[in-house]
Amino acid sequence: MVSHAHSDIHGEVAERLRIAGQRYTTKRRTIIDLLAGVGQPMSIADLLERRNDLPQSSLYRNLVVLEESGVVSKVVTTGDQARYELAEHLTGHHHHLLCSSCGAVRDVVVPDALEHELDNALGKLAKREGFTLDRHRLDLIGRCSSCQ
Ligand SMILES: [Zn+2]
Ligand SMILES: [Zn+2]
Repeated sequence: MVSHAHSDIHGEVAERLRIAGQRYTTKRRTIIDLLAGVGQPMSIADLLERRNDLPQSSLYRNLVVLEESGVVSKVVTTGDQARYELAEHLTGHHHHLLCSSCGAVRDVVVPDALEHELDNALGKLAKREGFTLDRHRLDLIGRCSSCQ
């Protein structure tokens, strides 16, 4: 994952929250730090495992605010637990590998040449449907190396 220095991330998060009329509180900063530090989509249970001083209800409420402000994205997984990660404008464009057996979720950065091919193919599809393509989201579902 292409990750910016943490200070840049905090600056951009603070700005987005300000635009959304929200404050960048210590708790929200802690959540952003956790997500930036791990660099993988995390469930609420994962986050609580690392910071059990954050009450679950407050963690959930803050994640909702961060998601609504566009700095955190929810990742749809094969399991029943949603996972959260920093938005792509903070970390860089990537895709996810979802293991349907153990539920592991891994970020994967597609090489530029392959991204280009994907955009070409998806652009053709969009054009055929009379749709203007701005960007894409694409997750791969299968079995991770330890579940094969
Ligand atoms: Zn697995
Ligand atoms: Zn892509």
